[in-house]
Amino acid sequence: MAWVAEPSGHCLDDIATYPLFSMPSGASLMLAVQTLQQQHYRHLGVLDTSGDLLGLLSYSDVLANIEYEYVNQLRRLLDERDTALRLSVEHLRLATQVINASLDGIMITAPDGTIESVNPSFSEMTGYQQDEVVGKTPALLSSGRHGDDFYQLMWRQLQEQGFWQGEIWNKRKNGEVYPEWLTITAIHDDSGAICKYAGIFTDITDRKQKEARIQSLAYFDELTGLPNRRLFTDRLRLAIANARRHRHQVALLFVDLDLFKRINDSLGHLAGDRVLIEVARRLEKTVREGDSVARLGGDEFTVLVPEIDSLGGLECLAQRLIDAIYEPMHINGRALFVSASIGISLFPGDGSNEEQLLRFADTAMYRSKELGRNKFRFYNSEMSERTRQEMRLEERLHHALAKGALNLHYQPKINLASGCLEGLEALLRWHDDELGQVSPAEVIPLAERLGLIETLGTQVLEMVCAQLQKWQHLARVPVAVNLSVLQLQSEHFLRVLDHCLSRYQIAPELIELEITESFFIPERAEAMLAMLEAIRSRGIRLSIDDFGTGYSSLAYLRKLPINALKLDRSFVQNLPGSQGEVEISLAVLGMARGLGLEVIAEGVETAAQAEFLAKHHCQQAQGFYFSRPLPADAVPRWLEINAPNQ
Ligand code: C2E
Ligand code: MG
Ligand code: MG
Repeated sequence: MAWVAEPSGHCLDDIATYPLFSMPSGASLMLAVQTLQQQHYRHLGVLDTSGDLLGLLSYSDVLANIEYEYVNQLRRLLDERDTALRLSVEHLRLATQVINASLDGIMITAPDGTIESVNPSFSEMTGYQQDEVVGKTPALLSSGRHGDDFYQLMWRQLQEQGFWQGEIWNKRKNGEVYPEWLTITAIHDDSGAICKYAGIFTDITDRKQKEARIQSLAYFDELTGLPNRRLFTDRLRLAIANARRHRHQVALLFVDLDLFKRINDSLGHLAGDRVLIEVARRLEKTVREGDSVARLGGDEFTVLVPEIDSLGGLECLAQRLIDAIYEPMHINGRALFVSASIGISLFPGDGSNEEQLLRFADTAMYRSKELGRNKFRFYNSEMSERTRQEMRLEERLHHALAKGALNLHYQPKINLASGCLEGLEALLRWHDDELGQVSPAEVIPLAERLGLIETLGTQVLEMVCAQLQKWQHLARVPVAVNLSVLQLQSEHFLRVLDHCLSRYQIAPELIELEITESFFIPERAEAMLAMLEAIRSRGIRLSIDDFGTGYSSLAYLRKLPINALKLDRSFVQNLPGSQGEVEISLAVLGMARGLGLEVIAEGVETAAQAEFLAKHHCQQAQGFYFSRPLPADAVPRWLEINAPNQ
């Protein structure tokens, strides 16, 4: 602020503007201007907060100050504009650099699709330089692999959504067709209208090849959709592990079409493919749920049966597969007959791993081709033979059970001290018209395997009870019935037993049940013990059959609610000559006495055996020496002669 004092003869007081109009320093500039204008003052005093004069303010001071503010603001605006400009130039340069350096091909087009610019990667991938494509449309790159609708859809989506992304086959300048992954984005101007399209793409030839490799390595056969060799081998390995654990059999059927090459050669590969697809479909339709069909390649198929329940069933399946394939196929307007040969291998019988099973099934398939096509064959010819026999047995057993053709023989059990009849043991007999006499030692395990043992066991119980009812006026002789372990494991057993007893009105004391030592399965001990208790609580006697051949622990035996042990024939056979057998039988007799159990010696064939056993207090004996097992109608006569007073 200027301060001017004129040099004259007057005192300052004469010429000073008085009074000095003052304003506080905090007042606004606008108020100061208004006051100066209205009061026609040239100066205003400016006071600080304590009222002391800070200085003078003139009109020109105010103007200078406002101008200064304006210039300052102007400068600030100019600076800001410069910075924005510099930034946008920088952005532009950066964008250009990114576009040029990008490994993706980039193409900018006008809204009508005319190419405006491309980047170096575009040129590298397509083979076209910028000047060769500018002004043209992307149709220049078209491979011809996509139909019109493909492009129409692309354009529609671009217009509606401003975006398209997908796989597209294009053609390079050198004519090579290649796949690219393309993203097109619409770019809008300030008014929101589309002003450009930016297309960004990568060459995915490499990725495609990798995908194809993965595909071929993957699990399914492309033509038929069936599992391929890889998946099949995995499944086979699993099935084997499972079968090993659960002790069942796995079957592998190797199916090969006969003369398939001829179909391919004469009708062409397309027809061949259709045959393969149809065969795959028929195989899948024929197998059961749980079995799996695969195509190993060419005209080779496999069927995996992870658990076979009977060889007969397997043979049936093989025949059904052959028949299904042999149904006429209508291909290219003509009926075609395709036949197949099948080779079968089994785990564990033929091989112990997937590689062996495949090889053996393949070998069997070749043999079946040699023997004339349209057939199946087991790997092991001996096996085939055995299978056939077992199958017949199986079929006949079903038949016998259905017709009630089984019957029983009864073998007397003798009290060694008195020579009196103690009871009879019912033994299964099966005479088949075709097979002749079949031993129970063969029938029982087969019935167990086929899941028929419950039916068989029930029939035996029924027959025994019916027989006892017939004999009730003759004598009250208890009859021992042999049980399979599987019967005892069945929840129905007690019901069946009660039903038989009540239906024929048989006193429970007239029934004795024989169980074998194989019944002692530690894991099931409790359930089995409960079952035996339930039997005993009905007043039915229990004995352990074939004693000495199993591994029953003495401690366990002590807990069982049993009445008698049946000393196995093998310990009786060489009595009294063999020192070893003498010792064993004496030990068993001693132990049984200790446990309060009776002993029944099995297979007594000679007087010397009977004498020895009687001398050592064996209570009962059974064997050819006393009587062979007798047909039911021979029993009354035997009783008449041998036990007239009973
Ligand atoms: P097991 O219960 O030990 O029956 C005794 C077996 O020895 C019978 O054979 C009988 O005929 C035979 N045998 C009797 N005395 C003599 C003899 O002095 N010398 C010789 N060498 N053998 C004699 P079978 O009838 O062939 O029965 C064999 C096995 O089949 C039976 O052995 C039993 O375990 C089983 N079995 C028989 N019938 C049935 C049945 O209805 N149900 C069940 N689950 N198993 C049965
Ligand atoms: Mg027995
Ligand atoms: Mg026995």
